Amino acid sequence: MKIEPGWINDINLSFKEPLVALKNVMYIIVHHTEEIGWDINKTHRFHQEHRGWSGIGYNFFIEENGEIIKGRGYHVGAHAYSYNQKSIGICLAGNFDIHIPSIEQLKSLSKLCIFLLEQYNLSTTQILGHRELKSTAKSCPGKNFNMDQIRESIKIQWLKYKGKK
Ligand SMILES: [Zn+2]
Repeated sequence: MKIEPGWINDINLSFKEPLVALKNVMYIIVHHTEEIGWDINKTHRFHQEHRGWSGIGYNFFIEENGEIIKGRGYHVGAHAYSYNQKSIGICLAGNFDIHIPSIEQLKSLSKLCIFLLEQYNLSTTQILGHRELKSTAKSCPGKNFNMDQIRESIKIQWLKYKGKK
């Protein structure tokens, strides 16, 4: 594990049960909260109290203002049926069936994805929207969230980043 960058904030969420380390990450899966105005704390509480989970299901969370916060981090999450053991789930606050993600959120998503691509030796084709998995019928991360465009934009920045190293 590379040293975690300082721009990933850790608010030390408490989980009811010990988390299990992720061993084999093959995908980065992008989600939206679908609820408007839900931040990481509200999502964490909802997953604990209403879903009965150990705590927030997502590995990372991106607030409306672009702040990147650690959820389960590098532990097995609960965000995509049958993919939890092999993926990192990133959730952006908002409902992108109705709204569009903020510029700050998209910048943060790209920054976080680039860190994770390097960390787990992945390609941008391994970044998927939740709805692109066979296991879901949801529109997540929202109809207004264009996955091809996001992948392309991250790819350009990823190549730039690699070229600079
Ligand atoms: Zn989702």
